Amino acid sequence: MLFHAQVAEGIFLISSDISGPNSDGRSLKPGRATANSYLVVGEDKALLFDLAVNEPGVVNYVRSLTDRPVFPVLSHGHIDHVYHLEDFSEVWLHSGDIPLLKGKGIGTRKIKPLPVIHELADGDTIDLGGRLLDVIHIPGHTMGSILLLDRNTKVLLSGDTFTRRLLYGISGVVPMDEFCNRLRRLWDVPFDYALSAHDRCALPKEHLRTMLDAITHDLPNAEKKFSIPFAGKLLCLTRGVETELDYFDMAYWKKA
Ligand SMILES: [Zn+2]
Repeated sequence: MLFHAQVAEGIFLISSDISGPNSDGRSLKPGRATANSYLVVGEDKALLFDLAVNEPGVVNYVRSLTDRPVFPVLSHGHIDHVYHLEDFSEVWLHSGDIPLLKGKGIGTRKIKPLPVIHELADGDTIDLGGRLLDVIHIPGHTMGSILLLDRNTKVLLSGDTFTRRLLYGISGVVPMDEFCNRLRRLWDVPFDYALSAHDRCALPKEHLRTMLDAITHDLPNAEKKFSIPFAGKLLCLTRGVETELDYFDMAYWKKA
């Protein structure tokens, strides 16, 4: 069943209790991977960050939470972030992920009808009325992956980029050094915590240290194991315990 939780002033997590991170389907504690969208409500309009919840009625459910017009913004174009996109006439995302939205590449599907696409770029600001969000582009999970900084609450909506689970390299290749440098720049971004698409728990800024440390120190010793269709085996690392906040795992598709 769909549910929501207000996780910051005017920011609602929307998810389904069948994909709960532990025995309580609505828990916001650290646990297994789940899927969340975030509704950010301004004075004039509201944005829905990702269509990550695959349940019938989710669009009406979202619209019932606000009387403002709702428009979708995608952290990226993978298949598990575009459920029910057909129910919208317009969509906003980074130009680097438009091919994914058109069904090109691993982990995509053809969306019919495809809404009118509006491109976002690094440094853009989205104005919801009394509420500004800054677009931060960090390619790595995909070429067009973006994060949004809500200036009002200092919350970072981090998609699949700043997360406890990172899938890297299946949708374009960004040198790992470049990705790490862009991650390091998040230290200077004024956010207090991040909300990701597949974690119910909020991630403290210190999670940057966990990610960077794992990539720098654990990845060189990672083993190839996890296999995905058409891509083969990926380098995998796991750090910590899923039910603890500082857990991190990574799967890296690196061409041999
Ligand atoms: Zn993804």
